Amino acid sequence: MAERTVEPRTVTVCPTRTRLDDILAAVKQYWGFTRLRPLQETAIQAEVDGRDSLVVLPTGGGKSLCYQVPPLITDRTDVVVSPLISLMKDQVDGLRACGYPAAALHSGMTPDDRRQTHNDILAGSCRLIFVAPERLMAPGFLSLLSRIDVRAFAIDEAHCISHWGHDFRPEYRRLAELKQHFPQASLHGYTATATERVRSDIVEQLGLSDPALLVGRFDRPNLVYRVVPRVDVRQQVHEVIERHRDEAAIVYCISRRDTESMSAFLQRKGVRADHYHAGLDADQRRRTQEAFSNEDLDVVVATVAFGMGIDRSNVRSVIHAAMPKSIEHYQQETGRAGRDGLEAECVLFYSAADVMKWTSLLTKSAEEAGRGEDVIQPQLVLLEHLRAYCQPFHCRHRRLVEYFGQSYEASDCKACDVCLDECENIEDATATAQKILSCVARTEQMFGAKHIADVLAGSDTDMIRKWGHQDLSTHGLMTGTPRKRLVNLVNQLVDQGLLTRTTDGFHTLKLNAASWEVMRGDRKVRMQLPPEKTTGTSRRDKTADRGWIGVDRELFESLRALRRDIAHQRHVPPFVIFSDATLRDMARRKPTSPDSFLAIHGVGEKKLADFGDTFMACIKAHGRPSAE
Ligand code: ADP
Repeated sequence: MAERTVEPRTVTVCPTRTRLDDILAAVKQYWGFTRLRPLQETAIQAEVDGRDSLVVLPTGGGKSLCYQVPPLITDRTDVVVSPLISLMKDQVDGLRACGYPAAALHSGMTPDDRRQTHNDILAGSCRLIFVAPERLMAPGFLSLLSRIDVRAFAIDEAHCISHWGHDFRPEYRRLAELKQHFPQASLHGYTATATERVRSDIVEQLGLSDPALLVGRFDRPNLVYRVVPRVDVRQQVHEVIERHRDEAAIVYCISRRDTESMSAFLQRKGVRADHYHAGLDADQRRRTQEAFSNEDLDVVVATVAFGMGIDRSNVRSVIHAAMPKSIEHYQQETGRAGRDGLEAECVLFYSAADVMKWTSLLTKSAEEAGRGEDVIQPQLVLLEHLRAYCQPFHCRHRRLVEYFGQSYEASDCKACDVCLDECENIEDATATAQKILSCVARTEQMFGAKHIADVLAGSDTDMIRKWGHQDLSTHGLMTGTPRKRLVNLVNQLVDQGLLTRTTDGFHTLKLNAASWEVMRGDRKVRMQLPPEKTTGTSRRDKTADRGWIGVDRELFESLRALRRDIAHQRHVPPFVIFSDATLRDMARRKPTSPDSFLAIHGVGEKKLADFGDTFMACIKAHGRPSAE
């Protein structure tokens, strides 16, 4: 198996049968792109040549184009295996809008539509057929395909075949039989899942023979990563959403109840938000997902259940109201931001309490399933990796990339809170830690973080009166620091191992050897300043505005409204008409002739013919065209 990892922006010219010019001509004609992304050419070439392949590119890396181009330039019909109807529909809508002959066969179609599609396939007028694995392996469908001499199968979301993946789908296992049914065809797996174990499992399960293993760079330079101490999570989440007003955001919570209360809070603040979790019926889930896709909803507050079917490309922020349970999950979930290549923000609101919550959830569910230490331990290791990621001492891009076994060359990513110098340390952290620890000592190591915070803040609560803690010397020692910030500081000490929290369900704080070292002054402490208000607007200036240079924002909004109207009329999601990147390019260059419209990023011949006049009329109505 030949593995290649390609550096960003490398163009690999391969002197084989299909010339790069032919590929680029097709890409320009249908999609309006002028360049290929790293690995796309090699992946396209493998499919054209009939060599099995496994392509691993991050979400938004451009995997679809790799299987969409080969049937165009070889004039054959290829098959794409896709796990969800919604994904198939969006892809087919998107391709047809580009003038690309594609079709899907799924259970949501009327008998007439199905018959028509069968006829189109037999007539050879489809270049790509999208189908779910169950339908593909049904006898009737296999015999249909044998009549059209299929030469290549692309397996999208190929990690679904692996037990080790996060979305295992038993139906995918039957795809191993494809090689027997179609010995003349090549198989091509596509996934964003980066782990080695899943990759080798895909190769083995699909029975790939001497595949080209094409592994791209996992870094997503257009994403800005931030980990912010959690103080008042609802307000903090709202602030991030306000920074991207009227734009798409996904907020991840651990529990179903949290998704509901967070979404209700955001609705009260006037945000077009709704919640999504596995406890809702299928119909309601579908409606929420469609509303998000159609831009009728800006924010979905969800558990991990909101996943694979989301292909809205202009998600501008992915917010974690609490820590997920592994870096793999984090990468997967944040991967949904900025698929259009434009800048997007990923904020994780972190508290050491999350580690505790996950530890108890994982332990409980393993015990309920009758599983022991051997199952819990690896999960705790995954948790520990993410905990380490959340500490404010390392570039977040570097950490993520290195976690997945790749190197990170740049010394400063300019796109994470650490490199942007946003993580503020407390100046007198050791003295602050000593105050907290001595409060734990004075209260006899019998209480949790909230009570310690109350004592330090000098509060007057029933508990304080009951135990006479108003008379302690530590009562009111940190008056003026809000209670929520104090709780966060206590949690930071636990996180650094400078204080222990019991795991018996009471979460009592106990001093340990490290606590005494700090109290004796033998050990220095670093602590992050929990935000009073989460962020300042300066952050927006530094990162979020990069992709707006030269864009007439008012015109962009008019074009966006026009796109939404057209999408509604045609019953397709707006991103099928044009991506945000295309609209920004239009609002920057203001084309008023067919030639200049065709030069816009993402405008191919069909879209010029279908939408050119309407969008150019909007540009003209808006004012003077740019001097291009
Ligand atoms: P993936 O399936 O890897 O998550 P997609 O295939 O959905 O990614 O591509 C992400 C986005 O990038 C899409 O909007 C797609 O049109 C765009 N894209 C893909 N290839 C190119 C390219 N060569 N140039 C410009 N945009 C591209």
